[in-house]
Amino acid sequence: MKAAVFEKPGLENLKVTDNAEQPKISDHDILIKVKLAGINPIDHFVVSGALPKIHPLPHIPGAESSGIIEQVGSHINNENFKKGDRVIVHNKVFDGTCDLCLGGLDMICRNGGLIGAITNGGFAEYISVPERNVFKIPDDMDWDLAASLPVTCLTPYHALNESSVKVNEYILVFGASGNTGMIAVQLGKKMGANVIAVSKDDWIKIDFGADYIISDYDRVTEKVKEITKGKMADVVMNSLGVNTWNSSFESVGIMGRWIAFGGLTGADVKLNVQSLYSKQIKLIGSTGGTRKELQELVNTSSKQLKVRVWKKFKLDNIKEALEALFAKDRDGRILLEVA
Ligand SMILES: [Zn+2]
Repeated sequence: MKAAVFEKPGLENLKVTDNAEQPKISDHDILIKVKLAGINPIDHFVVSGALPKIHPLPHIPGAESSGIIEQVGSHINNENFKKGDRVIVHNKVFDGTCDLCLGGLDMICRNGGLIGAITNGGFAEYISVPERNVFKIPDDMDWDLAASLPVTCLTPYHALNESSVKVNEYILVFGASGNTGMIAVQLGKKMGANVIAVSKDDWIKIDFGADYIISDYDRVTEKVKEITKGKMADVVMNSLGVNTWNSSFESVGIMGRWIAFGGLTGADVKLNVQSLYSKQIKLIGSTGGTRKELQELVNTSSKQLKVRVWKKFKLDNIKEALEALFAKDRDGRILLEVA
């Protein structure tokens, strides 16, 4: 089958071959013909070697994929899944038996990992995954959104749930026109919050519903103070890392929650503990999301969420697709057309 494969880390080592071995399926697995895959920073980290413990080698990356069922394992009930069903892949490997899995937190399974990192991923004609990782999508859901549910939509959805956002609260979203940011803005609105987007792109307000937009990155805290009449933000979502740490932490109000699910520009920050305790601020880490949350997104997002797509690449152009992640003029998602 056709696939993007590398034998050792480095973007220069990533090749597209027609001769990758088609994955085999066991009794409880499903073989999916990949249609559209999302390109995310995690894929770049896997290929470039920034993420250790890549398995197997040679390796097929691809952490976010959608497609059509080609074959189901012999123990799978055909009323649940059958050939031709449109599906997405929940990208977590998990044992289902550890204390965290038993608590419904399979995305942080003690013995787990990421599909596309510790198993082969979806930048290939076919991917095989366990039945419990497969979610059917509604007929009216377009592929652009489907291919964005497992990472781009699920990550901010879980983060918002973790932040216990309430109606009428103020949410400040850094990187609001980025992949997860544009979804955080829309979900924040649906949860009844007032959303302040930090972005230079007007469309995040005009098309995606942000209530306020802050485009002057040097005056974020000051602007938040103006907008909230001194109260400051109840929830601050910042996955941009060290570059925006100061302005994001200073924008958190009393009893506010600061939350991250990534750290694009670096992870080491300096924290003023006095501000933390005197304002009773909660610092929250969040990663991925639960299968229950993914099912909720599948059920509700067809008409409620949209993604802005910047560019679509063919599988043959996978390297350009990964490089485009860091393009200065990037303005929306990057997707990979596999079939
Ligand atoms: Zn587990």
